[in-house]
Amino acid sequence: MTDAPGGVQVVRTPEDLRAVRQGLGPVGFVPTMGYLHEGHAALIRRARQENALAVVSIFVNPMQFGPTEDLARYPRDLDRDLRVCAEAGAQVVFTPDAGVMYPPGFSTQVSLTGVSEPLDGAARPGHFTGVATVVLKLLNLVQPDRAYFGEKDWQQLAVIRRMVADLNVPVQVVGVPTVRADSGLALSSRNSYLGAEQQARATVLSRALRAVQAAYAAGERDTARLEQAGLDVLATDPEVQPDYLAVVPPDLQRQPTVTPDSLNRVLVAARMFGVRLIDNLPLDPTDPVPAALPPGGPA
Ligand code: AMP
Repeated sequence: MTDAPGGVQVVRTPEDLRAVRQGLGPVGFVPTMGYLHEGHAALIRRARQENALAVVSIFVNPMQFGPTEDLARYPRDLDRDLRVCAEAGAQVVFTPDAGVMYPPGFSTQVSLTGVSEPLDGAARPGHFTGVATVVLKLLNLVQPDRAYFGEKDWQQLAVIRRMVADLNVPVQVVGVPTVRADSGLALSSRNSYLGAEQQARATVLSRALRAVQAAYAAGERDTARLEQAGLDVLATDPEVQPDYLAVVPPDLQRQPTVTPDSLNRVLVAARMFGVRLIDNLPLDPTDPVPAALPPGGPA
C-alpha cells in the first residue's frame, strides 16, 4: 500500500483492499482501464459525492480483449491517472497485476445470454464475458454500496445491470451520462490513438446519431429507415467502416418498428483510422433514463 501525490492510497492486493475498505461507510466504486479523462472524472466525482469513500480500479483486463485487439498498445499512464483520481476526489485506487486477478488455475467465466449477444457481443466474441467476469470479481473485492458506469458503453451498462440483478449482487448500479468534447465527440481513452484532425473527423459518429434522432423527431418509426438516416451520414466519410448502427429498446433486441415511449437508444460502432469507436444517444432526447432495472429487461 502506498500514498501517491494528492493523498490517494494505492492498493495492489485483495488483502490490502480489504484492510482499507473495512469499517468505512458507504463506498462508491468506479471500475476503469485507466488513461483517465473527464468522462472517468465525472464518474469519480459522482462516486465521491454520494459516498463516504470513492474507490477507483485501474486494470486493463486481458479477458475482455480479443486476440486481434489492442491489449498490448492500450494507453497507460498511472502517474497521470493518480492525479486525475485525486483531483476528482477518489481516496483509494486499486490497481492489481493481471496475476493477482487471474492466478494460475483460474477457471471461472461469467457469461450472459440476451443483452450480451447482439451488437458489440456479435462484433467482439467473448468481450462481455470478460467484462462481466472482471466486474463481478471487482465488485466482490471492493464490496461497494454503489458502482458507477458510463452510458458511453451503453450495452456494457445493460450487461452489468442484468448480471447484478440475475446474481443478486448487493450493489446499486448507477449510470452516468456520456461526457463529450465541445465537438460532440464522446471522450474515450482510445481517442488518444487519433490526431486532432482525425478526432475532428470522428465527430461523424455523433452526427450520425443526431441524424437518427432528427428522423425520429420528424415522425419516422421504421427501424431500418431510422438507421439508414445515420448510415447515410457515416457514408459521407470514406474512412468510416461501420460495424453497426442500430436502434434498440432497453433489452437491446432490435424490432422492425420503434414504439414511442419505450426508451429506445441508437448505438453506433465504427472503425476509423484503425481505431474502433463507439457512441450512443437516446432516440428521443426527452426520454428519462431509468435508474433501475425494469421487470424483464435491463435499463
Ligand atoms: P474504460 O476505462 O473505458 O473501461 O471506462 C471506465 C468507465 O468509464 C466505464 O463505465 C465507461 O463507460 C466510463 N466512461 C468512459 N468514457 C466515458 C465518457 N465519455 N463519459 C462517461 N463515462 C465514460
